[in-house]
Amino acid sequence: MSFDATMQIAQIVPSTEAEGPGRRFAIWFQGCPLRCPGCCNPDMLSFEGGEAKSVAELLAAIVRTPDIEGITLLGGEPFAHAAPASVLAKAVRARGLSVMVFSGYPIEELWANPDSAVAELLAETDLLVDGPYQRDRPDTARRWIGSTNQRIHFLTDRYRADDPRWAKRNTLEIRVDRDGVSVNGFPAASAAGLWKGWTRKPMPRVSP
Ligand code: SF4
Repeated sequence: MSFDATMQIAQIVPSTEAEGPGRRFAIWFQGCPLRCPGCCNPDMLSFEGGEAKSVAELLAAIVRTPDIEGITLLGGEPFAHAAPASVLAKAVRARGLSVMVFSGYPIEELWANPDSAVAELLAETDLLVDGPYQRDRPDTARRWIGSTNQRIHFLTDRYRADDPRWAKRNTLEIRVDRDGVSVNGFPAASAAGLWKGWTRKPMPRVSP
């Protein structure tokens, strides 16, 4: 698959501290085959919608974003877009940035998946948070993690379990600017109304 390959993207936050260690370029995919009860991003379930972005477009936007430590892939379900996502992840890591992925699939299911693109995306993932989000099991102890059933897998030596950044409280970011309002980070029940009542910020331009 080439850098011209496209993927459906629901949302981008170019620099966030609420989706993994350090400042990260966060990309939400449009489309998820899972149906977690109380899904935190129900508008990202359909494979229709979002905007088609090429690997090249996203990579150019990532490279020109200052002071980021890596990218985070969320959704939607990143592994449902594994072929282009793996090309992007490989290019990002080749530039010294890290890759974190949130997946609703347990890692055992990902290992067993016969799709080679799934294995390729796993091979380019430094940090994997796996398992379906469960609204009735909120995780308030581990920063960046939505529910207590979700596991953190350190797939490379880029990060360590004793990184003090994991121990901090969870983070919710609210952005307000002339384009509108966006909210990302920990899906606290008390923040649910923010999503419904406010306008989703349009996706920023990522043209090269
Ligand atoms: S994996 Fe994520 S996007 Fe998919 S249904 Fe579960 S919470 Fe929603």
